[in-house]
Amino acid sequence: MKICDFHVHSEYSDDSEASLSSIIEKAIALGTSKICITDHHDIDFIVQEPGGMDFQLDTDAYLDALKSLRDKYQDKIDIRFGVELGLMNTIVDKVNDYTNKYTDFDFIIGSSHLVHGVDPYYPAYYANRTETEALRDYFESILENVSLIDHYNVYGHLDYVVRYCPSKEKAFIFDDHKDIFEAIFKIIIQKGKGIEINTGSLYKGMSYAHPHMEILKLYKDMGGEIITVGSDAHDPKYLCYGFETYVRDVLTALSFKYFCTFKEQKPEFNPL
Ligand SMILES: [Zn+2]
Ligand SMILES: [Zn+2]
Repeated sequence: MKICDFHVHSEYSDDSEASLSSIIEKAIALGTSKICITDHHDIDFIVQEPGGMDFQLDTDAYLDALKSLRDKYQDKIDIRFGVELGLMNTIVDKVNDYTNKYTDFDFIIGSSHLVHGVDPYYPAYYANRTETEALRDYFESILENVSLIDHYNVYGHLDYVVRYCPSKEKAFIFDDHKDIFEAIFKIIIQKGKGIEINTGSLYKGMSYAHPHMEILKLYKDMGGEIITVGSDAHDPKYLCYGFETYVRDVLTALSFKYFCTFKEQKPEFNPL
């Protein structure tokens, strides 16, 4: 079956203007059987510049809109309710409170968007240290988050920080960080969580999707099986970007037999 997109942003995210219906219509046109919208909610986000975005989701309005679309399109596509939660070591209790309050989510992506309050999207994150140190800081924050927080299903865009590094993918040397990824995957796999392949980087100038092939291979070699696929589209034109070419090739090369989708926060293993 066609690989389904489980990481998409609509106008309920601060950084997207795409209407939910435009996304659903595009997914139907692409012939995909399920889709999960995963709008941003970053609890205690620190706004990085005057007038900057704060990524606070109006969750009640969002879920209401999704419910009516699920009914409207039920004969054409299976719409799942998702959220991309920004995770930080300072919000453990607030993440628990949020996910206990909103139990309608089928799927929760946990992502690192800030490291110690700083957004790696901005050059300040890389100042006064080497790129290797800046990358390591990001990966170490993921390790801290997966140690402390359990209220997510997959960890999003594991090496997204590479996208914004001054020398981009040249800055990432797998062997410099392998030990952290081993520690991250040990916890993720043992807790029954997963990771995603995120193709957002492919239409933002990188040669590979997140995470790097070596990271994916390590996950597979350590016994990781839960893997979702997302375009991270903030515009419907990028829905399912690279799925039937790049992603299918990568998953097949690594001997994955399935891609995962989620319903009521339980993984479904779909044959590739
Ligand atoms: Zn993200
Ligand atoms: Zn996203």
